[in-house]
Parts: sequence; C-alpha cells; structure tokens
Amino acid sequence: MTLAAILVAAGRGIRAGGEKPKQWQRLAGGCAVGHALQAFRDHGGVARLVVVIHPDDRAKTLGWPADVQIVEGGETRAKSVRNALEAIEKTDVTRVLIHDAARPCLSVPLIGRIVRALEDAPAVAPALAVTDALWRGAAGVVTGVQPRDGLFRAQTPQGFHFDAILAAHRAHPGEAADDVEVARAAGLDVVIVEGEEENLKLTWPGDFARAERILKGRSMDVRLGNGFDVHAFCEGDHVWLCGVRIAHARGLLGHSDADVGMHALTDAIYGALAMGDIGRHFPPSDPQWKGAPSDIFLRHAADLMRAHGFRLGNCDVTLICEAPRIGPHAGAMQARLAEILQVDAARVSVKATTSERLGFTGREEGIAALATATLIDGGEAA
Ligand code: MG
Repeated sequence: MTLAAILVAAGRGIRAGGEKPKQWQRLAGGCAVGHALQAFRDHGGVARLVVVIHPDDRAKTLGWPADVQIVEGGETRAKSVRNALEAIEKTDVTRVLIHDAARPCLSVPLIGRIVRALEDAPAVAPALAVTDALWRGAAGVVTGVQPRDGLFRAQTPQGFHFDAILAAHRAHPGEAADDVEVARAAGLDVVIVEGEEENLKLTWPGDFARAERILKGRSMDVRLGNGFDVHAFCEGDHVWLCGVRIAHARGLLGHSDADVGMHALTDAIYGALAMGDIGRHFPPSDPQWKGAPSDIFLRHAADLMRAHGFRLGNCDVTLICEAPRIGPHAGAMQARLAEILQVDAARVSVKATTSERLGFTGREEGIAALATATLIDGGEAA
C-alpha cells in the first residue's frame, strides 16, 4: 500500500473575511494549509503529499519542501481534485486521502482511523451524527421539525482506493460537494468512520479563534527546571525544611532561614523559566533578606511563573540527610508548599533519602536538597 494525501487549497474562501483566502490566512503560527500538511506528515504513513492551489497563489508555495507536489486547480472543486489525481496517476499510489485545507485541525488519530478502514472498504469518510434538533424555518419563524435520525455532518479527509476514485472522477465531469458524492455516483459504498468535533471547517471569522485555540492547545509549551541546594549544620535547636519547623539538635547555617528544600524548589521554578536563581533575585549581599522566611522566595518564583503565563504542572523535592527524620513531616511540608504555590497538594511531592552515611550528608555536616518542577503554559493555577 502506498498512501497519498491531496490537500484541496484552491478555493477563494471569502465568507471567512480577511484579505486572503481563508486557507492562507495567518493561523497559530502558520496557515491552515501548513497545519493540515503537518498532520499528514505527523501520521508517518503518507508517502506523497499533493497540494492543489489556485494559480494566483503559486508565490505562497515558494520555499516549500521539495517533497510537496504542487498542482494547479480547476474552476470547480471536483476539477481541482481530478487534476491532482491525474497528476499522480503514473505513480505507485494505491490509496489516497482527499482533504479540504480549510480544516486545519484534523488529528493524527483521525487519519489513522480512515487509513485502517480503507483496508476493508474502497471508500471511507469521517462524519459526526447530528445531535441538535433540526428545524425548517422561513422568515425567522420555525415552520417544521426535521427528523435527525440517520443524518450526519460530513468531514474530510475522505479516503479512497486510488484507481476507484480516479475512475469515479473521470466518469463525473460535473461539480460535486465532495468526493463522497463522486464516489457514490460511481456506485462505491462509502463507509462512515467517527469524525471529530475539533476537525472544524474554517467558514466564518469566529472559526479562526476556535481553530487557533485547538492548535495551540496541542502544541503545549512545557518547561522543566531543576534546583539543588546545600546548607551546613550549625548551633541551634531547630531546622526549617519545606516551610515546616522541625525540632533538631542542630540548626542550619544560612543568610535567610536556610530552608534548603524550599530553596531548591524555588531555583527549579526559576530554572524552568530560564530566569536565574534565588541569588539573582534576592542577593545575599542585601541585608533585608537576613533571616528572611524562605516562602518570600518561593512566592516570588510562583508569581513570576504566573506573570509569564505558566502554571505549575507538578514539583518534586528530595531532601538528603541522615537526620532529622523527614517522613513524619512530609505531609505537612507538602501542604505548606502547595499553599505557598497556590496549587493543589496533589501536584507537590516531598520525599527524603539518606546518602548511606557517605559524604557530607552521611557525616551529618549538612542537608542537601534536589527539586524538579514542570511549568505548563496557559491557564490558571490548579
Ligand atoms: Mg540556599
């Protein structure tokens, strides 16, 4: 099986507004044609990509990758598809997906469903059953109810065995709404597979904002940061760890309250934002941070995160020490960090390990902490 995808992008698309045809208008860092092409590339099984364009749009394809074949369309949609089919007739293509470029949000799973169904059927098309009540109306008044049983909203890509759809187009010289109509006119049974709500067709100006949300949601910006910190033991009777005061035979030495766990976590968030570390935002040379509670630092990092449009995906802190024992306090630490970060506690992990009495933590000279945080763009904090 050799699979081709034909993108029909030759229409003039004026209802959607704008100066250019809708499939060429700016959309989520590209255009509808580009996003649809990428979906076929991402599927991984498409050997040949063909884009049918209007002759006036040839300049828009300058600089495109050489593996995309450009074909000029005809005066109707059916003629445009026919031109593309004829252009690849003498290749080894055995299956073809025909897609309207004005549907930029098609997904790889949708393409997969159609390709799989083509193993058993010569023609396959995605559609969604109509769920809204349907009315007939005239002059702004409901004049009747239309039963919706057996009604579907048709989508593309529509998939075909190549020889069958080429023959169908050659036998159908007139216009057609889509290739299913052409296939049925030739007597082919068209199997329906489940379409997708997100596979919308850009038609009205408001459709661009919806398509933009869908496409941006798929290319989620996820940032990962790590932090590491060490503080030495000193004279004292308690330590602060992850915002919790724990009685201990020693204290921790530091400019602030020396909360080593919270410092590592704060640095992980700064790191995910690529915005330095605590020392950059709160210089140790500045006396106002002397003895400061470390939640000031963590709160600052969390505010910076939100100000840059990110929310916390999750964070994970590991404290490394022989003593004090962390286990009994881990729940309180988790709750305190979640409170400072203003996130659900399920997104915050605090755990501990020893270093098997090796090294400075093993000799109980101090405590070390590691932290990791993931930041996700968009949305409010959970
Ligand atoms: Mg520190």
